[in-house]
Amino acid sequence: MKKYEQSRRCVSCGSRESRYLTLVETLSEITKNWAEPCPTCKGKNFAGSGDIPSITRESLEVWGRDENLWFIGQDEDLMFDEENSELMFEFLNDDSILKSKKYILLQALCSMASYNQDIKKELLTRTRIFQELEHGKEVCSTLFSK
Ligand SMILES: [Zn+2]
Repeated sequence: MKKYEQSRRCVSCGSRESRYLTLVETLSEITKNWAEPCPTCKGKNFAGSGDIPSITRESLEVWGRDENLWFIGQDEDLMFDEENSELMFEFLNDDSILKSKKYILLQALCSMASYNQDIKKELLTRTRIFQELEHGKEVCSTLFSK
């Protein structure tokens, strides 16, 4: 299984650490934040970076079924990639994906629809999702205005 590297440097003493997380750990609030103090000086301020899982079938499945998982603060920004749109449309139709996560997918797709005609056309055919998500049309207001 792929592991994701997180690394940090203690601001007080400069010591560096790395650790490797699973996909789920990377998406989980509890493990995402590396809260333990520096083992060298007990400092609590760090500069760090970490791998963010990319949008794949696997990561969307895990993320889409658990309310407590997120990629970054604003997941819909991360999904701003037209290459992912096909996968995102597929997950919109998947009954095992949480409604709250479908809203995020829908929000990202609607934003992309404002400059991508293909995504716009496709969204307009997806009447089912707008029946399922009661605020879907509000989220996509730009799509329906005019
Ligand atoms: Zn330190």
